[in-house]
Amino acid sequence: MVRDLLPLYLSKKTHPYSDELIKQHLENCEECAALARSMEEFTTDIPYFFEEEKKEEKRIDGLKKVKTRIKTLEVFIALGLVLLMLMLLWNIFRLRAM
Ligand SMILES: [Zn+2]
Repeated sequence: MVRDLLPLYLSKKTHPYSDELIKQHLENCEECAALARSMEEFTTDIPYFFEEEKKEEKRIDGLKKVKTRIKTLEVFIALGLVLLMLMLLWNIFRLRAM
C-alpha cells in the first residue's frame, strides 16, 4: 500500500496525513525506504536530463550560427574573386585596345 503511494509521496501530492504515515513507515521499513531513495534519485534525475538536452540544443544552435557565418564569408570571398577577375579582364582588354 505504501509502495503504491510512494510516487505521489515523492512528488508531494499526498495528503499531509498520509504523508506522515508514509514517513513513519519508511522509517520502519528498510525495503520501502530503499525504494523511496531510488525513486527520489530518478525523479531528481529528470530535470537534470532536460537541462542537458537544453545545453545540447544551445550547442547545436551555436554550431548553426558558425556554419551560416562561414557560408556568408564564402559568398563574400567568391564575390571578391569574381570582381578581381573582372577587373583583371577589363585591364587586359584595355591594354590590348591601346
Ligand atoms: Zn514497506
